[in-house]
Amino acid sequence: MNTVTTVRELRAAVAQARAEGKDIGLVPTMGNLHAGHAALVEKAAQRVDFVVASIFVNPLQFGPKEDLEGYPRTLAADKERLIEAGCQLLFAPSVEEMYPDGMAAQTIVHVSGVSEGLCGGSRPGHFDGVSTVVTKLFQMVQPDIAIFGQKDYQQLAVIRTLVRDLNMPIQIIGEPTVRADDGLALSSRNGYLDATQRAAVPAIYQCLHQMATAIKAGARDYPALIVEGKQQLEGAGFRMDYLEVRRADNLRPVTAEDRNLVILVALFVGTTRLIDNIAFELPEGA
Ligand code: AMP
Repeated sequence: MNTVTTVRELRAAVAQARAEGKDIGLVPTMGNLHAGHAALVEKAAQRVDFVVASIFVNPLQFGPKEDLEGYPRTLAADKERLIEAGCQLLFAPSVEEMYPDGMAAQTIVHVSGVSEGLCGGSRPGHFDGVSTVVTKLFQMVQPDIAIFGQKDYQQLAVIRTLVRDLNMPIQIIGEPTVRADDGLALSSRNGYLDATQRAAVPAIYQCLHQMATAIKAGARDYPALIVEGKQQLEGAGFRMDYLEVRRADNLRPVTAEDRNLVILVALFVGTTRLIDNIAFELPEGA
């Protein structure tokens, strides 16, 4: 695997792969890679000849009080994981390389609609930062496919909308969330948890799973289910950001006719903010 840090080197390496007739896949990340990231790279390697991963802790998507400074940076271990997963090229730029004129001067890409509410509501500017950096990466690499995790469900919806609205010729692939044996969604932020917190967090997915099971069995009083779910999570010691049932395709509020649903949660465990979701289809007759 080659590692490059400049856009010029990145474009040259991708151009060479193209000249060799290879098709290109991109997996954008912020590093501190775990098995969830590896699954995205492995999927890309199955689908294309040349897999590019990026590692960039994007300051533009962090709020002023968020964990930008302390975000885990583990480049040497990340490279090992990428090689094992089948990555050919790593792009690991500096902030100056990505935003040479500074972030204040950067053109911002705003995806409307789906970026509002949920994480967009509690993290103002977050999805503008994501859609801007992803647009830049797409322009730099011009991949045939790009792979994202369903763990960040709203992010995936924002990126699908971005690509559609701006007519980008890139196929977006969403991969299922990789979980620990106890159900916890793998996340770089799990490393912030102490042993007591780590022992408590499997309750998050358990709660989502219980709610999904109840809805599939016919429960339709979503507000009551949400109140119950929040009580359960607060009882486990978490501070709620949101717990919502939405349409799986566009994250709009659910109507009686909708059959493809997603339950999304964001909460704080101490100072660590975790998100998770479960998407499901109502069975026939439910
Ligand atoms: P991040 O480095 O957290 O920005 O994530 C980079 C990519 O990995 C995003 O597309 C995430 O949705 C995806 N990802 C993160 N955690 C998981 C997971 N547990 N399972 C699958 N994909 C994940």
